[in-house]
Amino acid sequence: MEDIYCFGGNPLDRASERRSDQTWIAKLLADPDSRVLPLRELKPYTRLTATPALDWRPMDQWRDHLTSGAMLVFLGLGDGRAHFAIDATGANIAPDVDTDLVDVRALAPAIAVSEAAILAEARSVLDWHARHRFCAQCGSPTNVSAAGWSRRCPECRASHHPRTDPVVIMLAIRGERALLGRNRRRPGARFSCLAGFVEPGETLEEAVRREVREESGVRCGRVRYLAGQPWPFPSSLMLGFLTEALTEEITVDPEELAEARWFHRDEITEMVARAATGPDDPTKVSLPAPIAIAHQICRRWSSGLDSL
Ligand SMILES: [Zn+2]
Repeated sequence: MEDIYCFGGNPLDRASERRSDQTWIAKLLADPDSRVLPLRELKPYTRLTATPALDWRPMDQWRDHLTSGAMLVFLGLGDGRAHFAIDATGANIAPDVDTDLVDVRALAPAIAVSEAAILAEARSVLDWHARHRFCAQCGSPTNVSAAGWSRRCPECRASHHPRTDPVVIMLAIRGERALLGRNRRRPGARFSCLAGFVEPGETLEEAVRREVREESGVRCGRVRYLAGQPWPFPSSLMLGFLTEALTEEITVDPEELAEARWFHRDEITEMVARAATGPDDPTKVSLPAPIAIAHQICRRWSSGLDSL
């Protein structure tokens, strides 16, 4: 099996073939065993016990809010019951005393891997609904269907589905050295893998080569896929690669990067260890925390797990 990174490894059975069965969904909504995760402004209700956990609630508490038109998404089946997410924005149900609203990015590394993955699903789909209330084809208001997994236009009959945006993220390697970039928008000495959105009409391999060349001027040859990671901010799919650098000279795109630099494998090993143990030391070059796939790609390559 492949490696699972934060936001991957969702244990729910999405039962996508039954989402459009309104009778079945109504039965699940009436089932006292069904659970709902409320999110307000995309932050989940979270139990702040010794180990934080998502605050799954019985459906009953949320019935009035639901009747008033709140967005509800069927997430899937797990542990013998249905799991839903509800947009709690505007609801007059306050979190419990030991419950608070927590930002997903901050919360994800602290909760169970399976819960972070379910949270990624809930956050992405609720966010999509908030930003896609009107038909992209004719501009009319659309209606929710398939238990939150599509929106239909009553005017032009178009169907719209939650989208996932593929992002290639790669480590260009040349012998014992690898290319990392420092983002213009991020202060300090934080370096990371180069990355960018896949554009219409190109393959993943072409996107990897194009992004490295555009951002750093380095030309690449072979490309090897390592692993993927859902990234729900708002709905990217990070696709991690190693790629073979054919040239060394760096010319950064100043719009994207403040700097790009070749790092030796030993140096990256040290950076991985530092990023895994604590916050950045601003005087030293650093890598993203383990929640990010960039960290995992660097870890895998520097520890010799993967080569081209
Ligand atoms: Zn329409």
